[in-house]
Amino acid sequence: MSCRWRNRTRQMNGGKAVNERGLPAKIIFDMDGVITGEERYWDAAALVVWELFFSPRYLGLTPPGGLPPFQPDPSPGCISVVRRFVFDEDRTVAFFKRKAVNSNWDLAFLVFSFHLIRLFRELQRCGGILSAPSLPNGEEPGIAHLWEWGNSLPAAAGERFFSPSAEEAWAEGARGELELMARLTRVAPPPLEGLLERMLRPHSLFWRGLQRIFQEWYFGGEKYAELYGEKPLEPAREGLIHREEPLLPVGEIEKALRQIKRQGWVLGIATGRPRNELYPPLKQMGLWDCFDPRSIATFTEVEEAEQRMNAGGKRLSLRKPHPFSFLKAYFGDKEPEREMISRPFRSLPAQRCWVVGDALADLVAAREMGASFIGVLTGHGGSENRALFQREGADAVLPDVTAVPGFLAEKGATA
Ligand SMILES: [Mg+2]
Repeated sequence: MSCRWRNRTRQMNGGKAVNERGLPAKIIFDMDGVITGEERYWDAAALVVWELFFSPRYLGLTPPGGLPPFQPDPSPGCISVVRRFVFDEDRTVAFFKRKAVNSNWDLAFLVFSFHLIRLFRELQRCGGILSAPSLPNGEEPGIAHLWEWGNSLPAAAGERFFSPSAEEAWAEGARGELELMARLTRVAPPPLEGLLERMLRPHSLFWRGLQRIFQEWYFGGEKYAELYGEKPLEPAREGLIHREEPLLPVGEIEKALRQIKRQGWVLGIATGRPRNELYPPLKQMGLWDCFDPRSIATFTEVEEAEQRMNAGGKRLSLRKPHPFSFLKAYFGDKEPEREMISRPFRSLPAQRCWVVGDALADLVAAREMGASFIGVLTGHGGSENRALFQREGADAVLPDVTAVPGFLAEKGATA
């Protein structure tokens, strides 16, 4: 790892110690699992998988016992049953979190792909399906093709939908969505390898179709139409965003953030949420003005950079655990983007940048860029993440974000 700034003289600027390029010390927060809750996103991810397998619009399989038939406007109780079933009491979420998968679109995509492959393998083993679904004129596979594929599957194939959790050898040692997608392609039945190779990558036509359904579940039909300017596929969806809840009492979070600000830190955000899913909850909670608007990197910036970078047909991902969003939040436009994209990354002076995150993806990203890392135990897995964070070299593990100002004061790591 490059540490170009080490041993260089720090200057004083307005009484505040800054590095030679005038960048102040920053503390960059992940959002979901740190400040905002992630529950509604996991609901959306489970509902997407349910819909693609069991809606007559897509594969149209008969659901196995215990899983309700598909409906476009399920009650909160039904959503909870679907999630418990589809995510195996959330063990599947934990599995992919441990694999440093950060985006919930990727979570839905990987879970759907995993079960589709298992289903095809099982059917092939039983002599049920041996050839790849056909695509006219070499078209790229998309969710619109699922209806035709479903026609070639026995309706009762849905009964085989679930095998236990995703704890299988296929994913051993793999980290991040790119490696996991590559692994899934390798375990696909041979007739499907070519098809899945085209399908199993970020931003494939299939991935984008799934993302659209996810967004419709999250925003609801009406809000989706307003935000994206297109007709929703299922107008009846109410939208999960209306049921978002803060992770801790808002007053306590606000007190902690303002205290950190008073200690002289600039507060930034690096989140997998798109910009239009970040502002409304933070504004509603009265936390938006705690953060420096120039130190915020969302999925929107990540996606734009990915599109520029992959214009020549590359398939690279800048999503966490890639450190791009944290580097972008730290440097803003003051550094060339290329130094945030590939190794060696622009690295940071020790203790000048702290990252606060709830997941392995945040820790890996922080480590890649030389930032100090505080793990909080409010994400998926709760206190069980303590051992994981310690093993992976976190600088501190704290119960939640309200303990951060006290830790920084005690550590003397003030701006
Ligand atoms: Mg998180």
